Amino acid sequence: MAEDSTVESAIAAAALADSHKKEGNALYHAQDYVGAVLKYQAAVDAGPPREALPMLYQNMSAAKYQLKQYAESIEDATKAIMIDPTFLKAHLRRGKALAALGNWHQARNAYAAAIAVTPNSTEAQIGRIEAEQALVAQYYKPYNETMTNAQVRYINPTRGKGVVTLKELQYGTEVFHEAPVVSHRFVGAEENSAIPACSHCLQTRLTPDMMGPFAVLHSEVYPSGTPSFLSCEKCFVPYEQYCSAKCRTQAWDDYHSVFCAKDRELAKIHPITELYALCRKHNRTNPLIIARAFAMSLTGVTSGRFSNMQDTFQRFGNFIASEEQTPHDAEEFALILNAFSPPHRKLMEIVLTIQNFRMLDGAIMRNAQRLNPVSDLHAMIDRLAQIDAHKLAAVLGKIGFKIPQLPGLRMSTPMRSLTVSGSGLFEIGNTMNHSCQPNVVSMTRATDFTLSVVAVATIPVNTEVCISYIDTDLPKAKRQAALEELYYFSCSCAKCQSED
Ligand SMILES: [Zn+2]
Ligand SMILES: [Zn+2]
Ligand SMILES: [Zn+2]
Repeated sequence: MAEDSTVESAIAAAALADSHKKEGNALYHAQDYVGAVLKYQAAVDAGPPREALPMLYQNMSAAKYQLKQYAESIEDATKAIMIDPTFLKAHLRRGKALAALGNWHQARNAYAAAIAVTPNSTEAQIGRIEAEQALVAQYYKPYNETMTNAQVRYINPTRGKGVVTLKELQYGTEVFHEAPVVSHRFVGAEENSAIPACSHCLQTRLTPDMMGPFAVLHSEVYPSGTPSFLSCEKCFVPYEQYCSAKCRTQAWDDYHSVFCAKDRELAKIHPITELYALCRKHNRTNPLIIARAFAMSLTGVTSGRFSNMQDTFQRFGNFIASEEQTPHDAEEFALILNAFSPPHRKLMEIVLTIQNFRMLDGAIMRNAQRLNPVSDLHAMIDRLAQIDAHKLAAVLGKIGFKIPQLPGLRMSTPMRSLTVSGSGLFEIGNTMNHSCQPNVVSMTRATDFTLSVVAVATIPVNTEVCISYIDTDLPKAKRQAALEELYYFSCSCAKCQSED
């Protein structure tokens, strides 16, 4: 008998809940959302069978969404999903409410969950694209504000983000230029150690005796006096020397304040000093870039520019990467770890890991641009050519050069030996997608040592700007293999499609 009455009351509860739900639906359609919420709540309170609950919570979530009670709407949609994880409508509702709150990270995840449940849901796909677009627009806002010819945008799920033109650009036009987010001069085999250069921006400072036949030019056009560098006035380490007070301040704010031993003698046994020796020995520059990247994650937080460690480290996590293991990485990482003070290490716990070291190593391997700034001599010739081409012709004439040879001169062999090279990560540059037939190339500007991306074709408005990640002269099979192996995609650019 007792069992019968339980069954009976369950049936009664289900019927009552169902009638509340129907009333709720009618009110919802009449746009009485407050009334609808009350009815759906009454339906839940009637104690219907568990399988009826997801729909009730979803409907309640929809009504609260209409009332702009987004936080509550998210809560109800979440309840529905917890009971029925495959409930597409609840995932979509959650995504919409999160988007309405501007919580794009979670909105993207909600739509991704919806796609996992129902891969062909158009609403879920559109929702995810909107969330990705908003995230890219948010993150790149400060960068986009610096550009007038192009913008970083989310393109589509296959291409991800990319750089798109805002107007038609003629051949030779600079699309944008930017300073590296982190960079370092090469150490080891490519160090060209006889050439003094700014350890922050790589600008050279040449002395007359380094110029050989160019010395006469030097005396004509060099500003005045013996070129000199600024050191860190606390530790005087040889690997921190700057072309200007501006570079010294930037280096200090970004990374050197973290690693400075603040004492000449202590600096000699500082872990970063040891890291330099190790990197030279093994011909590796990446660990020095990684050390700076970690330090910049810390200064990003301590300066108040970013609110937490994860956000500031995201600047480096944005690059295409997979962990790269190398023979000396444990030793290199240990030195970097020891270069941070214990309180700093504690603060950085979540990001300062060997996995992230290896991830950054992979990111630099795949995304770093080679920096090859022209020497200060190149820059002077450039400046002089603009101010007084006749005077320059006279000076160059003295050492046997004629003006028509100028373009060749700028990177001829003896001139190249007067420069240093390095590598750096660029945030805007990194968003450019690949084409085997690129419409832009990158080069270093002589005026401010930033990376300049220049059109090598007429590029129409609203067109994606593409660079080549690899040597475009390679045959198709080799190009495709290189892109698959390093960048994990198979290229379907126009050139690849037209070749067999
Ligand atoms: Zn500098
Ligand atoms: Zn110092
Ligand atoms: Zn291709």
